[in-house]
Amino acid sequence: MSPLPPSMPGILVTENGGVEVLNYKTDLPVPQLKPGEVLVRNEYIGVNFIDTYFRTGLYKVPLPLIPGKEAAGTVVLSSTPDLAVGSRVAYMGDATYAELTAVPAQSAAKIPDGVSTESAAASLIQGLTALTFIRNLPLTPPPPFNKKSLPSRSSFCPASSSPHPATKFVLVHASSGGTGSLLTQILSQSPGGPYTIIGTASSPVKAQASLESGADHVIDTSTDSIVSRISEITSGKGVDVIFDGVGKDTFDLDLEVVAKNGTIVVFGSASGPVPPVDLFKLSSKNIKLMRPSMPGYLTTKEEMNGYTAELFELLRKDKVKSRVHRVYDLKDVAQAHLDLEGRKTVGKLLLRVRG
Ligand code: NDP
Repeated sequence: MSPLPPSMPGILVTENGGVEVLNYKTDLPVPQLKPGEVLVRNEYIGVNFIDTYFRTGLYKVPLPLIPGKEAAGTVVLSSTPDLAVGSRVAYMGDATYAELTAVPAQSAAKIPDGVSTESAAASLIQGLTALTFIRNLPLTPPPPFNKKSLPSRSSFCPASSSPHPATKFVLVHASSGGTGSLLTQILSQSPGGPYTIIGTASSPVKAQASLESGADHVIDTSTDSIVSRISEITSGKGVDVIFDGVGKDTFDLDLEVVAKNGTIVVFGSASGPVPPVDLFKLSSKNIKLMRPSMPGYLTTKEEMNGYTAELFELLRKDKVKSRVHRVYDLKDVAQAHLDLEGRKTVGKLLLRVRG
């Protein structure tokens, strides 16, 4: 293990704004460990859309800020026997756009053999988002007749052996993106199905990636109308579930294409936040509207360990693959944000500290 440097490279944001506020520094102070923390040398750093919200100030936090919410690497200093120096870990936390990050030991998950550090970093936030959202989806309760063949709430959950419900149509917006691709992969293998997965993607390349993730149909929004294609695919019924991380640009469309008794899960604002909603818009089709946050499903140690272990197992068995769009040098983080916000990416963006 190489000795700790006196200072480290990292990204510092001192004011909110465009990508020009992502300042690359080589002399940031190395974090001091508090009790119960470990120091991780970040090998791969995940770039998530939420990082752009903190950069622009859509989500307000005190400045200056080292951005970044996830990374994977090696423990280089430890004050806890649970995580020895040399352990490979992945974690969600703060200040990950840097060579070294101090992480509460309970937030760092050991990466099992058979899972690469790169794929752990590429899948942690987005994979846990996909898993927790799928597991916690409220299903339409069964009608009072034909009780035996109807699904329980857990039939959406991959671990369930409940009888199959009728095919459900699930719409995943931005299905070739980081989160969209993991939602699609996990849904397409969920034995609680069958689900007919309809993805949206804004180019033929993205559409192809979405099919490779397991979508049954992809709507290329550069050429096709989402409303008419969904009507065709579902024979006019609409979709039972919508996963929408796009937000402002797609919310009205969601209300149009959702089926009676359907569920809309708005979980992000890639195109901007959804304006306040008139609740009466939900009543004509008895729509369920959710705005979940992944950390809210991981508040206990059991939840965190259980979902993380499940995600790593899916990766280890190759049931879920992290598709990496590109690994950028940390100092090129501005380009990574430009590409993500410019809709130029397929899958996950990673940063590496080099040189
Ligand atoms: P993605 O890799 O999915 O990138 C965003 C995608 O959104 C783009 O590739 C693009 O796909 C689509 N998009 C549509 N309109 C726009 C627009 N105007 N500007 C930019 N992108 C647009 O990013 P992430 O996987 O990191 O995040 C996806 C969403 O999930 C974000 O909204 C994020 O905040 C949210 N999220 C929420 C969590 C939660 O706990 N609630 C946790 C994790 C993520 P296309 O061009 O194909 O339309």
